[in-house]
Amino acid sequence: MVINGKCHCGNIALELEWEGDPPEIPVRACGCSFCVKHGGVWTSNPRSRLAVAIRDASRVSKYAFGSRTATFHVCSRCGTVPLVTSEIANHLYAVVNVNVLENVEQSWLRRATADFEDEDVESRLARRRRNWIADVRIAEGGA
Ligand SMILES: [Zn+2]
Repeated sequence: MVINGKCHCGNIALELEWEGDPPEIPVRACGCSFCVKHGGVWTSNPRSRLAVAIRDASRVSKYAFGSRTATFHVCSRCGTVPLVTSEIANHLYAVVNVNVLENVEQSWLRRATADFEDEDVESRLARRRRNWIADVRIAEGGA
């Protein structure tokens, strides 16, 4: 099915193609310092496809910290963080924030906590390649 999401003001919109109807959506409340402060709760599926439409790219701030291998896309208008991307070997991977998804029922969510703080960079990138969305398109501008 197609799952839609957007930041609060609509500057960043997501379209996520996910297998299963209803789909099973794993949900990870990340324990990193940024996600704890922002309440970031993430999902990904290596077989899903993600299309991101950004209306005004000048109002999206990109934030990285620590190993700087992940980029948080923060809407600077409304403060929402709809997605995180990671570029690994010239390929873009992403996870999306479950809280910005709109046509998802709570009963589809499979909650787990995750704490990856002790991972080294190499195993972190390998995990992302296995689990993150590997088909990511980001379009800027337009309507
Ligand atoms: Zn926004």
